[in-house]
Amino acid sequence: MPKNFYITTTLPYVNADPHIGFALEIVQADVIARYHAQNGDTVFFNTGTDEHGLKVYQKAREEGKDPQAYTDELAPRFDRLKQGLNLSYNHFIRTTDSHHISAAQEFWKRCAANGDIYSKTYQVKYCVGCELEKTESELEDGHCIIHPNLELEIIDEENYFFRFSKFGPQLLEFYKAHPDFVVPDFRFHEIKNFVENGLQDFSISRLKEKMPWGVPVPGDDTQVMYVWFDALINYISTIGWPEDEANFAAFWGTEQAPGGVQAAGKDNLRQQSAMWQAMLMSAGLPNSKQILIHGFINSGGHKMSKSLGNVIDPFVVLDDLQKLGLTPIQATDALRYFLLREISTFEDSDFTWERFKESYTANLVNGIGNLTSRVMKMAISAEIELNIADLDSQPVHEADKDYRDLLERYELQKCADLVWEHIAWCDRFIQEHEPFKVIKTDPEKARADIMILLLALWQIANWLAPFLPSSSEQITEILKNPKLENIPRLFPRLE
Ligand SMILES: [Zn+2]
Repeated sequence: MPKNFYITTTLPYVNADPHIGFALEIVQADVIARYHAQNGDTVFFNTGTDEHGLKVYQKAREEGKDPQAYTDELAPRFDRLKQGLNLSYNHFIRTTDSHHISAAQEFWKRCAANGDIYSKTYQVKYCVGCELEKTESELEDGHCIIHPNLELEIIDEENYFFRFSKFGPQLLEFYKAHPDFVVPDFRFHEIKNFVENGLQDFSISRLKEKMPWGVPVPGDDTQVMYVWFDALINYISTIGWPEDEANFAAFWGTEQAPGGVQAAGKDNLRQQSAMWQAMLMSAGLPNSKQILIHGFINSGGHKMSKSLGNVIDPFVVLDDLQKLGLTPIQATDALRYFLLREISTFEDSDFTWERFKESYTANLVNGIGNLTSRVMKMAISAEIELNIADLDSQPVHEADKDYRDLLERYELQKCADLVWEHIAWCDRFIQEHEPFKVIKTDPEKARADIMILLLALWQIANWLAPFLPSSSEQITEILKNPKLENIPRLFPRLE
């Protein structure tokens, strides 16, 4: 039954170029969004940019720019991913949008009214890379483990705090009642352990004189909100909270029927599945429905870092593919393919050009590309066509249920594996039945076999639609309008 479906990515900071890890996150979310749209659901797919905070402020100052002008220049670089990766998101939020700012202030007021915000003087080491306070046990050689090249900030001032510690028992109860709240399971265990070990209140503001680039704290113009009470609110401000109650209920859902699905990286596990959930509880709002946590992409066996010079930029990958002879559309699907099938959906994976080229040739040039042209050539020369109007009455493919089960459990890599197993099945079928030869001796049998292949190709195109949208479209087109001169060359051999 069609329904509303909401999914969001995290919001990357605008002060660096989009990297391949975020490309992975947004392509994963895109597959899930496209799958729901294909099933007739009304989809709200949100992404955007996080534009306040110390990193942005410092970088703008370094470049001698006003922070708003600086973020205005940078935000479109993220929105360009839409075309580069063929994404279907329909809302791009910037945390400097005026509606977002007023929503963040309203959210703060509700938590304050419930007694969950207080001020105190404190001294702490803070990682600007993670935007998290760090205790000694979380440091290695005095540095953040994830950001060993960043100096920790020492903060010593009076700030507002969120009473996170109060929500431990409520969070654990919530996790218990929602056994698939965090996907995959091993990340869910991780966050349960974290909450079970006891929570520390976290600071949610900064002195405005030290950090002028933030949302003003309601009722205190010496302070601005810091990171989480600003950035995380985007998940609901984007659907019009607090004014648009109908839209909020339609997409974020209710406590009984939550709707918000959030995709994030493993470095965001704590923020998404514990901090944000406690904030929602404090504000008296429904929790998220599910949190999907992907791993990191390493480059040549190493964690990507600016100092190692091995950060992979998705736009550079797309350019390089075009230099190797691909059209922009082919490059997009080739990159989507690699991210969805060759990169693990949940675990850390390695990105190397060697693997990229190998899997491109094996599974796109051969694999789906070769299958499409072989089947279409046989069908056209034997003058066999699918009756497209009849296809809706065809029995559902026996593997379709598995495909849907996998997709609904967000097992994208396994789901893509299933599609390529069927591509391989078709290749074996051609090899064993040789319809191109049999057509001369037993045309009736050959024609039946070619029809089986056409139906299989139609099914494969449908399954591929959320993963490789334009390749799927081209296969569907040639099936509808089979002419030798129109057979698409889905993926060229690399030059
Ligand atoms: Zn860090």
